[in-house]
Amino acid sequence: MSNPLPQDASNSSSGASADFPIAIIGSGFSGLGTAIQLKKAGIDSFTIFERASDVGGTWRDNTYPGAACDVPSHAYSLSFEQSPDWSRRFAESGEIYDYLKSITHKWDLRKQIRFNTEIVDARFDEAAGTWTLTTGDDETFTARVVVSCAGGLVDPANPDIKGLHTFTGKIFHTARWNHEYNLAGRRVAVIGTGASAVQVVPAIVDQVEQLDVYQRTPAWVVPKRDKVYSERFKRVLGRFPILLRASRFVTYWMSELFGPIVFLDNQRLASVGKRGSLMHLRAQVKDPDLRRKLRPNFQFGCKRILISDEYWSSFEKPNVELVTDPIEEIKSTGIQTRDGQFRPLDAIIIATGFELGMASAPFPITGLGDRSLDEAWKDGAVAYKGMTIAGFPNWFILMGPNTGPGHTSVLVYTEAQMDHTVSAIKKIRKEGIRYVDVRKEVQDHYNDGLQGRMKHMVWSTGCNSWYLSKDGSNRSLYPGYAAEYAVRTRRFQPRDYRLIR
Ligand code: NAP
Repeated sequence: MSNPLPQDASNSSSGASADFPIAIIGSGFSGLGTAIQLKKAGIDSFTIFERASDVGGTWRDNTYPGAACDVPSHAYSLSFEQSPDWSRRFAESGEIYDYLKSITHKWDLRKQIRFNTEIVDARFDEAAGTWTLTTGDDETFTARVVVSCAGGLVDPANPDIKGLHTFTGKIFHTARWNHEYNLAGRRVAVIGTGASAVQVVPAIVDQVEQLDVYQRTPAWVVPKRDKVYSERFKRVLGRFPILLRASRFVTYWMSELFGPIVFLDNQRLASVGKRGSLMHLRAQVKDPDLRRKLRPNFQFGCKRILISDEYWSSFEKPNVELVTDPIEEIKSTGIQTRDGQFRPLDAIIIATGFELGMASAPFPITGLGDRSLDEAWKDGAVAYKGMTIAGFPNWFILMGPNTGPGHTSVLVYTEAQMDHTVSAIKKIRKEGIRYVDVRKEVQDHYNDGLQGRMKHMVWSTGCNSWYLSKDGSNRSLYPGYAAEYAVRTRRFQPRDYRLIR
């Protein structure tokens, strides 16, 4: 049976069409923020589909010790839902999760969320101008507009290592932490040295008996300079919200100012960041041999820059070994490296990141002319401003292709996408448009420009990272300033779309 989504409660006041069901997929930052912005625009006819049993997205799932955001919380929170209560500069995962639950409560969103409901298929009906969404339980729903807020870094990636499944101790991914298992006194391995590992290593090093960190590629690390906010400071921010906005403003513009050090392919600029990071390495690690192993040999910014005041220094602890010899095989009781050495283990922590393949299209999506998104994206994910795809009308993506930053808060990008999406929805509703479909030539022109600029970005300087697809193209990051992306994206421009009535 095909259920229409709930009716728009705001119809009578807005004078808009009586029935305009909107489906939002996902209830992380993007989904909740979109729902709030819709409510603020007087549009209440949305349902959020969430495959898990609670809101929170990445901050619900990443509960590993040390998990925290590496963007200051005054900036890594919604600009229209700022909080003076962050306990520290870089809030930990649990606090961000609480923040997301609190805005859900404040805007009374739970009643519009269908939890434990995974969308597994979406198909557009051109005549009706509606999407039919099918759930894992084989229920179907129709929606006039779909806003895909499924997130990019969601599904854990397990490394393709021989014998991974033969290990008989405990083995788990950072994004699926096993809180039942007590690491105290155990021999533990961490595989991977990215953003997750850099947080988990210092958080567990003093609990475990032995920690072996398997590093394939060292990472550039810079100081974090975290701090706890005093009660007095929080009270002052609560009393004078302008100070909170000022804190956000300063973080935002400082990131923009120093952004080119991190995103441009410019040796002179990169050397500024590199020098700072090497000074940090010297201050943290006294042993020159260890320093040599930890020193990256690719350009600063090419992979995500990591921030930590404790990661590098962890390697000087007597119970920690940095293993740089490649893993040959995981055996039932430990790991063997290519040099023939075998290290016995009780537990292995997989810190190898996330599956990105089709992050914005995690299930079959069929648009105009029965064309699947898999087919449209066979040469790589492309969208207009990362949000709309020619041939897939009334479908908006948040955190879609080429909308990630390497230098600032991703929420600057997602908020611009929310504004764009809400302004499109307002127009479609008000003018009774059946569907809007981005013009193919507009999408192509936009992406040609984007990929042209990509050549001048540091991510194209030869290192291997999750930013790059298998063919070496970058379909993840936006090659420029966040402010630029926000300005060019915020408003829905009807001339870029075919408006079918
Ligand atoms: P990641 O950055 O993709 O790092 C994965 C690590 O695993 C890399 O060191 C990689 O080595 C290694 N690896 C992968 N396959 C391997 C294999 N077969 N054998 C040995 N090592 C292997 O993943 P992540 O650390 O989970 O972070 C992913 C992204 O999530 C981050 O870039 C960030 O955007 C986000 N994140 C954010 C935060 C935060 O804000 N605080 C925290 C965590 C994650 P190579 O470098 O050689 O490939």
